[in-house]
Amino acid sequence: MANPFDINRPLRVAVIGSGPSGIYAAEALIKQSEIPVSVDVFDRLPTPFGLVRYGVAPDHQTIKSVTKVMQKVLQDPRVRFWGNVAYGRDLSQADLRRFYDAVIYAVGASSDRHLDIPGEELPGNLSATEFVAWYNGHPDYQSLPLRLDVKGVAVVGMGNVAVDVTRILAKSASELAQTDIADHALAVLAQSQVTDIYMLGRRGPAQAKFTTKELRELGELANADIVVRPEELELDAQSTAWLEGQPALLKNLEVLREFAAKPLMGKPRRIHLRFLVSPVEILGQGRVERIRLEKNRLDEKMNAVGTGVFEELEVGLVLRSVGYKGVPLPEVPFDERKGIIPNREGRVLREGQVAPGEYTAGWIKRGPSGVIGTNKADAAETVRLLLEDAPHLPRAPEPQPEALTEHLKRKGVAFVTLEDWLRLDQLECTQGQAQGRPRIKITRLEEMLKQARA
Ligand code: NAP
Repeated sequence: MANPFDINRPLRVAVIGSGPSGIYAAEALIKQSEIPVSVDVFDRLPTPFGLVRYGVAPDHQTIKSVTKVMQKVLQDPRVRFWGNVAYGRDLSQADLRRFYDAVIYAVGASSDRHLDIPGEELPGNLSATEFVAWYNGHPDYQSLPLRLDVKGVAVVGMGNVAVDVTRILAKSASELAQTDIADHALAVLAQSQVTDIYMLGRRGPAQAKFTTKELRELGELANADIVVRPEELELDAQSTAWLEGQPALLKNLEVLREFAAKPLMGKPRRIHLRFLVSPVEILGQGRVERIRLEKNRLDEKMNAVGTGVFEELEVGLVLRSVGYKGVPLPEVPFDERKGIIPNREGRVLREGQVAPGEYTAGWIKRGPSGVIGTNKADAAETVRLLLEDAPHLPRAPEPQPEALTEHLKRKGVAFVTLEDWLRLDQLECTQGQAQGRPRIKITRLEEMLKQARA
């Protein structure tokens, strides 16, 4: 079929979510010249960039510079940004069908996995997802019940999120004060009594998920010594074989061996990297006081198996960092087990069949893996299929861009445009500059809306 779209009636696409995957999807749409497009990018928050703003650690500003490129996409005349517009509240499935020929769900994975062990209900047991959102100033997590009047903290997991969380807990207030960490978090972290942070891996050093650069950084902190037990770095035959030809993992092991050989320098805090231990119970009277661990070995498939040998650590806070998890969207199919929207290379499946005009990208498509850049190829795959399908898709009955604007106005939605966001961005950066910080984040939703729409 010939391409039915032209400059007067471009292909109308809604992108739900303005994190990396949503913006890379918009970018892939405007980078091609076969089919004229008009793209609306929505976010339930007044701010764009998703996990780049609310996930990437505040002391990793160079990673955040990716927003410069992302902002350019939103500034393209074929793209509009709609902040503070939530699918499921301000836009229904029927609305999407009215205004758009195609939709791309790119909402990421905003929840987390549990450990499913006794004691998880105790105050003082939180997810890294919540902790990260809290220190990054996410408006939904300002009042997280977090107490740092404790000496020991257990961080469960050996991924890069666990490393981020550990590093933020280990750094001094003066180090953190140079970043764009949320002011409410800085105030709590400045009073922190934490001396020992235990990162707990259920498998061995060869199976750890962190990357070498992030691992190395843990050993170079001014405020914390690193403690690694040489005996926990000993590899079984399978792990040795598994490491062969995997230079990145071998590098991790090399760094861990350097850490194990390093003398303690008497710094105020200590980071303990522990391997082959699984939390089996969180203990305490009314709040977290201890965590019980079982020593593991690896089976022939390199899965962790308990050995029946236990130990306890005195910790007043447990942060589980065992992976993010997708959350279902209203009227959109969801695979509960995998925590993703069922899809075939980005084409959404409804009861096993491709749903015309529905697509997905990013973590809600493939699960919570990879770095920011991974989402570029992922979104490009989805967009390629969308463009292939475009000539055959059911056409939106109200494709005029004003139809959406009118709809939101009629519903009284306090939407945030790109200009509004740029105003908020400017304000945050100006206030930050005065204190030698990249920005001071506004974290209350009402205040964000007030300043953005001023
Ligand atoms: P991740 O890399 O998948 O790590 C999850 C960790 O949790 C693994 O060590 C896993 O161990 C462990 N785990 C899972 N279930 C467990 C259980 N029941 N008990 C004990 N441990 C358990 O996930 P992530 O750290 O959340 O990171 C998500 C993605 O974001 C990753 O791709 C990461 O690289 C990326 N990221 C990158 C950066 C950066 O580049 N600086 C920063 C943050 C995040 P097993 O291996 O045994 O399952």
